[in-house]
Amino acid sequence: MKLYLDPGHGGKDPGAQGNSLQEKHVTLDIAKRIHSILSNEYEGIQIKMSRTSDTSKCLNKRTNEANSWGADYFVSIHCNAFNGKAKGYEDYIYSELSDSSLTSEYQNIMHEEITKLNQLSVRRKKKANFHVLRETKMAAFLSENGFIDNDNDANFMKQASWRQKVARGHVNGIARAFHLKKKDEINPITLYMVIVGSFDSKENADTRVSKLQEKGIKAFVEPIMISNKHWYRVQAGAFYYKENAEAQVDRLENAGFKAFIWKA
Ligand SMILES: [Zn+2]
Repeated sequence: MKLYLDPGHGGKDPGAQGNSLQEKHVTLDIAKRIHSILSNEYEGIQIKMSRTSDTSKCLNKRTNEANSWGADYFVSIHCNAFNGKAKGYEDYIYSELSDSSLTSEYQNIMHEEITKLNQLSVRRKKKANFHVLRETKMAAFLSENGFIDNDNDANFMKQASWRQKVARGHVNGIARAFHLKKKDEINPITLYMVIVGSFDSKENADTRVSKLQEKGIKAFVEPIMISNKHWYRVQAGAFYYKENAEAQVDRLENAGFKAFIWKA
């Protein structure tokens, strides 16, 4: 899945301003957090950002770039401003799209996930004829994360922990809409256990554990039942990644122990 992530404004264009904040800084910070969470925690996603620093970039360049890259989803991050009294969160898709369009379905998911976490009052899901929504060939979404000229919303914007929650909400929406897999969920059940002998007497198993400990290897005895018979299995580590279990087997063999991997 290819995500084009667009922090609104930048460089000579500060965007909305208020409460000693500039929209371009808030949007870039949130977008960077989205990028970092997605790439740390999820598989199968490529991300391109319209900007990664405080630089100017016109709207045409942004949409052309997303179109020629062949993005699957365009997500534009913004903050609102109005009269100081208006506050809350709202989001947009292109005005010509129907409520049954895929883009609209994505908006429903994004709206739900973002508003679960962002602590702002919730305004409507909207449609508008904005350049980035109209000129993008792929599904496009624009979020307005609070009003920068509203004291309440601006106080949130100043907190890194709030910007992280907003980013997390966007990530949850994107992950849900595009069925992204979490990195940890690749092998949700498989554990690679390293076994260094099975014994029918507990004493022999304990002896093995102390011999391992002499070589600085941590191990413990696990009683198991195989065909109605008690066994005492010596385990020296359990790993989520096979490579790590294999490295442990090598380490044990170099220390003079026969070991094997047991997949559970
Ligand atoms: Zn904006």
